[in-house]
Amino acid sequence: MKLLNLLLFALAIPALIHADATTQVLKWKDGKKAAFMLAFDDSAPSQLKNVVPELEKREIVGNFYLVTGNKLYASLQRRWEAAAKSPYVAIANHTFTHKGVNNAAELDPELAKCNEVLYTLKTDRTQPYLLGFGKPGGVPWKVTEEEWNAALAKHNLCNRPPFAGPPINYKSAEQTIATVDAAIAKGEMGHLDFHGVGEDWLVTPVEWFTALLDKLESVRDVVWITDVVSWHQYVTERDSAEVKTLKADLESITLELSCKADPKLYNLPLTLSTSVPADWKSCTVTQGASSASAAVVEGAVKYDALPGGGEIVLKKAP
Ligand SMILES: [Zn+2]
Repeated sequence: MKLLNLLLFALAIPALIHADATTQVLKWKDGKKAAFMLAFDDSAPSQLKNVVPELEKREIVGNFYLVTGNKLYASLQRRWEAAAKSPYVAIANHTFTHKGVNNAAELDPELAKCNEVLYTLKTDRTQPYLLGFGKPGGVPWKVTEEEWNAALAKHNLCNRPPFAGPPINYKSAEQTIATVDAAIAKGEMGHLDFHGVGEDWLVTPVEWFTALLDKLESVRDVVWITDVVSWHQYVTERDSAEVKTLKADLESITLELSCKADPKLYNLPLTLSTSVPADWKSCTVTQGASSASAAVVEGAVKYDALPGGGEIVLKKAP
């Protein structure tokens, strides 16, 4: 019995040290309380005029669901090409013609041909990569859910949440802005989807829109304002993420982060929080070639790491 006790005691020591290195994958990027996305549909000209400059000024990203095979797009093509160079313009697929389809065979070129145009707008990017997708409303889609899912996966498209936005679903600036507070209160992802802003069709007044942006600016410390692909990547990676503590002592902690998603498409760093020994004031976090220093706040350090990106080493700063 004495031998067994001794053995249990010896086994308990590394367990105790490991307990100091508890790591959590945080629900949202940078440990924010909620996520929020802005969407702009149908390549409406007022988005180029009234939305893009406002987003750039405030450094807030918007998702632009472009229909790339109609006359309207042809007339605005040069301007969308210029706009797409902005880091605050995330371009997404809203099909080639916005006319709906009668079967899965017709769906394929609607997605593929829209993607082809979107790829020409971001020539600096290496394929394959994910693009956002928004299903056009008001037209027939005679395909099953399985056919949708297969087609979206084939074309590396990630589906956005169902449409909700002013003036269709929210009838005032106050109702529109309340969606931001609702997302924060629930700690979930919120979104607002627009057509015209200031003019065009299904128009949201410019004053509602700028009031919303003022609101988003005032809460950006707690809200992750993001694009649909990053949201989808974060959630997908986070939900299958696993952290292993490989080594932990009083000077350093070595971890391994993995997830089940395809690393070619899912390459967004996750934000982790690791509890560290009580006397650590700050530390360096190294993964692969990247290294950064991070402060210790209430006994824990918060940092970004890539699933499958190699060992993560946290080292106590001298
Ligand atoms: Zn549409």
